[in-house]
Amino acid sequence: MPSQSPFRIDIPATDLLTYLFPESKEPPEIPLWIDADDISNSLSPRQLFSWVKRLGLGLQGLGLEKKDVVMVYSHNHIFVPVAYLGIAGSGYIFSGCNPAYGVEETIFQIQNTECKAIFVEPSLLPVLLKAASRTSFPTHRIYLFSDKDTQGIAGINDWQSFLPSVSEAESWSWTPMNASQSQSTVAALNYSSGTTGLPKGAMISHQNVIANVEQSIYMRDLEQRYNATSRPQERWLGFLPLYHAYGQLWSIVAAARTMSPCYFMRSFNYAKFLENIQKHSITHIQTAPPVLVMLAKRPETKDYDLSSLKNILCGAAPLSKELQNEVSERFGLKVVQTWGMTEVTCSCLHVPGGRDDRSGSVGYIDPNATIKLIDDDGKEVGPGERGEIYVKGPNVCMGYWRNERATKDTFDEEGFLKTGDIAINDKNGWYWIVDRKKELIKVKGFQVAPAELEALLLEHEHIADAAVCALQLEHEEIPRAYVVLKIEHKSASSEWDIEKWVGDRVAKHKQLSGGVFFIDEVPKSPSGKIQRKVLREWAKKDAQEW
Ligand code: AMP
Repeated sequence: MPSQSPFRIDIPATDLLTYLFPESKEPPEIPLWIDADDISNSLSPRQLFSWVKRLGLGLQGLGLEKKDVVMVYSHNHIFVPVAYLGIAGSGYIFSGCNPAYGVEETIFQIQNTECKAIFVEPSLLPVLLKAASRTSFPTHRIYLFSDKDTQGIAGINDWQSFLPSVSEAESWSWTPMNASQSQSTVAALNYSSGTTGLPKGAMISHQNVIANVEQSIYMRDLEQRYNATSRPQERWLGFLPLYHAYGQLWSIVAAARTMSPCYFMRSFNYAKFLENIQKHSITHIQTAPPVLVMLAKRPETKDYDLSSLKNILCGAAPLSKELQNEVSERFGLKVVQTWGMTEVTCSCLHVPGGRDDRSGSVGYIDPNATIKLIDDDGKEVGPGERGEIYVKGPNVCMGYWRNERATKDTFDEEGFLKTGDIAINDKNGWYWIVDRKKELIKVKGFQVAPAELEALLLEHEHIADAAVCALQLEHEEIPRAYVVLKIEHKSASSEWDIEKWVGDRVAKHKQLSGGVFFIDEVPKSPSGKIQRKVLREWAKKDAQEW
């Protein structure tokens, strides 16, 4: 029998704007999204709401159709929440593009989303212009996402050029969604490779986002709920990238829902991270294991006063209980694990907020969700046995954007999403992640799809075949390629040449930092599928010698 969450909650069945800005409540005038480098640069919920209305009305004036995608290609910035809520709130679809992407990766996202407008931060404009020219994307639909001028590039305007004035936009309103519209209207397309293949746009509905925020907050507040106490005011550090589900959920929607000021960092930098915790007395961070490794191992950590920090929520990649407990003890705080993936909006298992878990568990199933663990023979397993997590719930995405095949393959006949992660649970309902069955490699919490690197390697004129997998090191995983050279080019390229060739074409986290290894043949099944299990065995052996 699938395990249901022990908790049930009421989830508002409406759209994101009605959820965050109910008519009955005037949005407060307190700084909530704050530039960590310059606190005079901030937005209150009231200011944000005013910007969102302007953007909603402005986008309508551009003549976009409902359900068109608007891509945002930017580092973290306090105006990304305006874009996220303005785009989704006015019936369009937000899709964040990783600012680390180069031309090819950006082309993929422009083509795959079929976006109709793009907001771009000025520093990323040169890459975007190359991608736009290769895809014939109209430059008059590119808007500079900043208050700087257009640097004289014809056809490119500041994003504010099409916004109406504050007073004009004041009367703009939207029609609140009912339950079925909330479930079937896409708010965001977040890219993930899922269990196999190339990145795909997970369709995240308004209901998915609202449900996952409510589920996450419920799990976080369990201690207060039981003790009937209130939660002290928190201050968050917003360094999770906002193109990713994890950043969107916490730094945008949950910050607004819980009124927790969030100090935005443009991107992650460890010294700045420490400085910001000290300077802004940050109490809570949401992060991934590599940051815990730095907190535990990097010598400069001791130069900062981090005593304000009370709680670290950690997900996005495996975290050992040794590291979890080392950080907990050293800093006298709680490290609370969560598990999730882009396709479940963000999270689906949480250690309840107040619990000081020392076992490395990722906690209980979130409210209103159901999980079953399935073994390699397709049978459901019980407590103590390993099985792939299959999940169902109000936070599970609608499927993949314009990709019926992948959608069909990802859900079973009962509507459960197959996650590709292997877990065990105990009879009290606690879960532990023990392995990953899918192809995905997680580099510092970021997704790397082997299929994407394999396709790129095959474009190299000397390469006949290639397979990519994770090399598992103590606290991290890195991509390694096994490559077959064409007979006629056997000595034309070195491993290093190929590593560099790939490195010149992909974002930093996708580089083959686990090395390139020449082989005679890629292990394949009779149907021609790469035998990923064999690769994993090879990589395991290689990691011991690393
Ligand atoms: P993403 O879609 O980018 O959020 O990546 C989701 C994947 O990250 C999951 O399917 C897992 O493989 C991995 N992941 C997320 N949280 C955890 C966790 N707490 N422990 C182990 N792996 C995790």
